[in-house]
Amino acid sequence: MSGGLTAGTDYDGAMSDADSREFCPRCGDPVPARPEPLPGAPRDRDRRLCDTCYFEDFDLVDAPDRIEVLVCSGCGAIRRGNRWLDVDARDYTDVAVDEVSEALGVHVNARDVTWAVDPEQVDENTIRMHCQFTGVIRETPLEETVVVPVKISRGTCDRCGRIAGGYYNATVQVRADGRTPTPEERDRAVEIAESYIGDREAAGDRNAFITEVEAVDDGVDIRISTTQMGQGVATRIVRELGGSVESYPTLVTEDSDGNEVYRVTYAVRLPEFTPADVIDPGDGDGPVLVRSVSGNLKGIRLATGDAYEAPFDDEGSDARRVATREDAVETTVVAVEDDHAVQVLDPETYAAKTIPRPDFFDSDAETTPVVKTRTGLFVMPE
Ligand SMILES: [Zn+2]
Ligand SMILES: [Zn+2]
Repeated sequence: MSGGLTAGTDYDGAMSDADSREFCPRCGDPVPARPEPLPGAPRDRDRRLCDTCYFEDFDLVDAPDRIEVLVCSGCGAIRRGNRWLDVDARDYTDVAVDEVSEALGVHVNARDVTWAVDPEQVDENTIRMHCQFTGVIRETPLEETVVVPVKISRGTCDRCGRIAGGYYNATVQVRADGRTPTPEERDRAVEIAESYIGDREAAGDRNAFITEVEAVDDGVDIRISTTQMGQGVATRIVRELGGSVESYPTLVTEDSDGNEVYRVTYAVRLPEFTPADVIDPGDGDGPVLVRSVSGNLKGIRLATGDAYEAPFDDEGSDARRVATREDAVETTVVAVEDDHAVQVLDPETYAAKTIPRPDFFDSDAETTPVVKTRTGLFVMPE
């Protein structure tokens, strides 16, 4: 809490010749000659005064009569000068202490300065700050107490005002290809936006905010303060959840200088398939359990356990969903026939069936999850 306090340099130099007498310019009393300040050092007009005259109108502490702190009732930011500042204060006593510390000044010539500030809560919006200082001037220890009332007043900061007014420049529309995003995908997309904007906010960017999160029938719309941050959010959603993003600027207005103001819609299209889908890529090698959709589509062949990988932009791909992991049911393993075949009970008919044995199949298992597709029954990984 050193704030605006400056422990001054002292004038306490060596006495010059006892012969060279000087006189106080105010009362005429003789004073010991004081050394000239070094070239470039600040000159103190009062340095020639005798001690009596010097201390007559000396203030150790320079304090304002009162301090007013404007606090945003929405987010707790405080107004300092002509800008708003986010402070991490649990209550405004801390803020008041800081503001008073900023505003107090100690005489530049004081040495060995100590100080303490004792806040007294008068009412909800008034704090009386008792500030006690000690210091040494002209070899004389001084003590001074000042009381500074701090008034807390409440207003609305620029950011809260913009949020309340529905200000935004980017809309991130989260949709999915041929389906609606799952609740998990919607939640995760909003979380990604919140964490990205939260990081920017924590880094001190007061232009970073989410104006609105709106659930719509086919997804979710996230309205964000700036186009640049909208793009950042859309990029991160696609990086994690897969899919693609396209941007569409729309002219909304002209600002007061005649510049065109655009809003940008970032249309995120999540991939057709999600992890845990069982798809048939249509290549004749049987169904694939999708494991990941970030970057491209990755999964494993259920018949063999082989890895499967395909780009999203597989135009004209015949891939379609044939089941999901939820459709898998546990069934009895009847016999392991050979390296490529295992006999299990069909969970619907209870008839023994020979089906492909993938390499993830545990040959000691008495039961195994299986999934039924139009092309037959397949062992699922645990
Ligand atoms: Zn004097
Ligand atoms: Zn605010």
